Amino acid sequence: MILGSEFKARARDAAGYIFDMDGTIALGDSKSGGHRALPHAIAVLEALRATGKPYVVFTNGTAKPPAAYANSLRNAGFPVDDRQMLTPSSSAAIWLGKAGLSKVRVLGNAGCAAPLVDAGLEVVGPSEEAEGVQAVYTGWFREFDFNALEAACHSLWNGARLVTASNVPFFATENGRAIGASFPINAMLTAMTRKRPRILGKPSKVAFDTAMSIMGLPRSAASGVVVVGDDPALEMRMANAAGAVSIGLATGVMARDVELPEKDRPTVLLNDLAPLLDAL
Ligand SMILES: [Mg+2]
Repeated sequence: MILGSEFKARARDAAGYIFDMDGTIALGDSKSGGHRALPHAIAVLEALRATGKPYVVFTNGTAKPPAAYANSLRNAGFPVDDRQMLTPSSSAAIWLGKAGLSKVRVLGNAGCAAPLVDAGLEVVGPSEEAEGVQAVYTGWFREFDFNALEAACHSLWNGARLVTASNVPFFATENGRAIGASFPINAMLTAMTRKRPRILGKPSKVAFDTAMSIMGLPRSAASGVVVVGDDPALEMRMANAAGAVSIGLATGVMARDVELPEKDRPTVLLNDLAPLLDAL
């Protein structure tokens, strides 16, 4: 844990910032489908934009394409360009392409599949009949049904890799915690096939490296990057594994009174973004 002047210096001199969305800078309202900014969050991003410091917003949500999230954040008042908005499907598209896994069954909605389609991958629908599927990718998919389970199992039994956007049970919303759709889907697929999902969103290195490359930063700059989030198992774990600075916020799913394992412990734990704004 670092405090006071050291925190201020590291925040001010950071090479770049990776922000989580839900529970960190904004809360999604499942009724309106929009976002509401959390205190000081807009001012923090505006301060970064004013100084020209690179930053991205990386959500683990895949309900919408990145550009739709960026638009929702702009409607809430945030300075976020489309290219600064990332979802696990952004990093999944890059990883699948590099791994040569071009035929992918997506257990997700259109927003989840969009970055893969944009990257030129051959996307197979959740329960579509298909031969030669090389990967099954799971994400936001409330429409999941038995046909999709069966089709995905057959692809996996026939040799496809299991990859996922996210594998945490909950995320924060305006109306309390909500179920991360891919978590129970992954559990079913693992139970049926014994294949464990490789995570391509946070807290994976794939996700961190994707954010670094969008910010135009080399991997060697990782120790100067600040990751801000509310989920110890996502943002804190990703930052700590990469050697970046982790700022935890007690505004979402992180509680102050819970003792976390070292790999998930933030460098600094804040009640809100005011001290970060002050440092910038
Ligand atoms: Mg969050």
